[in-house]
Amino acid sequence: MKKLDENNRACLSLYFLSNDTVVVHTPHDGWGVIDCYETRTESQKNGTLTFLLGKGVDKLDFVCLTHLHYDHYRGMSRLLRHFKGKIDEFWDSGDIDLVRTMRMAFSESTWKKETSELERIYRYVYEWVKKGEMLYKRMGENITLYTENGLKIKSLSPVGNVMLRAKRGRFLNFNAFSAVLMVDYAGVSVLLGGDAESNTWKALLKRKIPLVSNIVKVSHHGSRAGMPPEALRQMFIPEKSFAIVVPLPKHNLPSSRVLFDIESKKVGVIETIDTGIKFDISKNGKYEWAYIR
Ligand SMILES: [Zn+2]
Repeated sequence: MKKLDENNRACLSLYFLSNDTVVVHTPHDGWGVIDCYETRTESQKNGTLTFLLGKGVDKLDFVCLTHLHYDHYRGMSRLLRHFKGKIDEFWDSGDIDLVRTMRMAFSESTWKKETSELERIYRYVYEWVKKGEMLYKRMGENITLYTENGLKIKSLSPVGNVMLRAKRGRFLNFNAFSAVLMVDYAGVSVLLGGDAESNTWKALLKRKIPLVSNIVKVSHHGSRAGMPPEALRQMFIPEKSFAIVVPLPKHNLPSSRVLFDIESKKVGVIETIDTGIKFDISKNGKYEWAYIR
């Protein structure tokens, strides 16, 4: 009987892990992973793969890489390798040229080790896509990525002329490439901001893309550069929405100013601490959250 219940969950669960991974458990018992960051120092529970194994996950509907920053892909090659042949889709915000550009940009820096992780990820992706073992989807403006009876996931960004926005001297700001995802289920909308910064939000506002959401994963760990006030104004439903923030203590994030701005909209802020938090959205549009234990 329990098995039957599990398969007919009639509920969408979103796990916001403290390592910035979002794990999606669909109403029909499918699983997806958005970003991945394995920490070596923190508790093993934080690890994306450890978390999935703990849930008995043996197949992934999708793996999504929002953008090419280390705190969003470290350990992803291990995750891919573990689920080899059992991942339906890879959602990407970049492309192979971007990887080459990035290697150039960081070739003299301490990022060397990090780019080798990225190379491993893309080696798997291209090999498996070529063999037809996995489907490759490039994210972009208003692209539907996933639909399953009532659940819809689409990308709102990368939006517009990303290269132009990303140029910062001889370096590229990869946050300009960050995917922004909108998850809709049972009339409840969830905005996953990735590490998008002001210029992305401004581009979305200019295109009049509706951003209003019940649950918002605040972009770029709640930095001031990440969240312009005009976007904040549009995202939340006062006294109803929740804002989820993934702190990044070594960069002093979230910014107290951003937290103040969000709270002044009468919106509850939840920080992912230790093991993260879980949101359940039921098919009648009710949603509730709890810390993951
Ligand atoms: Zn980040």
